[in-house]
Amino acid sequence: MKNKIIKALVFDKQVRLYFVDNTALINEIINLNGHNNRIINVALGKTVSGISLLSATLKGEQRLSATITMSNPKYKIFADTSAHGNVRGYANQSLVKASGMEDVSIQNLIGQKASIRMITGSDMNQFTGITDMPYQNIDKDLSHYFNQSEQLETYIETNLAINKENTVLYSYAMFAQLLPGAPRHLLSEMKERINTSSSFLAKLKGIDRIQIQEELRNYFSDLEIIGQVPVQFSCRCSKEMFYGMLNSLDEKELMTYIYANKIIKSSCHICGRTYQFYPTEIKTLLRKEE
Ligand SMILES: [Zn+2]
Repeated sequence: MKNKIIKALVFDKQVRLYFVDNTALINEIINLNGHNNRIINVALGKTVSGISLLSATLKGEQRLSATITMSNPKYKIFADTSAHGNVRGYANQSLVKASGMEDVSIQNLIGQKASIRMITGSDMNQFTGITDMPYQNIDKDLSHYFNQSEQLETYIETNLAINKENTVLYSYAMFAQLLPGAPRHLLSEMKERINTSSSFLAKLKGIDRIQIQEELRNYFSDLEIIGQVPVQFSCRCSKEMFYGMLNSLDEKELMTYIYANKIIKSSCHICGRTYQFYPTEIKTLLRKEE
């Protein structure tokens, strides 16, 4: 059950509870971003991990885009997901290139004036919510977002370990939300029974749906698994998109590449994918302009 969200109902169907072992997904995204700063990677990993679980709350063609703006408003982390489980995320260039980040804690990186903005919905019908980050903690402030902005008692917890080489050793996340009419104490009761440090999470990648159900029954006798949905990295960039951007270079510049028989390389800052344009392709661009 790697990169699959397990969806369950507990406490007499009054709480929805989602889990994921997204180690492979978070590792891929951190690798694609290619930063050496551990704190930025942890902040990015936790944000994307939490947001990846939210894909299971979306329907049809809905998307959810989250932006965390740190107290220094130049520093941002983006993450988005769709009902199909496509996930991507990145830290913006100002944050990646910021100096003096080596000894900063996540709490200090977030600071006292940070905010979370989420845009949810489909193209036709969008909802934007913004909340502050009073806890200076990604998990607690993501939960706070739902409590404040959607009036839904929600608990989000992520747990990830990254080694010195910036490889993700494990990444787990859980999401719990009270369904309408459920008493509030159920959420704290749930947190006492299970969390992302529970041994169950470490087993998740190697076991099947029936075994997961059995394991979870040790925590909740009335648990019901209602589905499982995949999450995977996906960036919507394409070579065509970058080909269009070459138009912004002037003809003289393009000609230098052609004469020197040089390749133009252009990278997507979201997924890190590099697109190459050979002189023959650059020539076609010039012809189009004529
Ligand atoms: Zn891309």
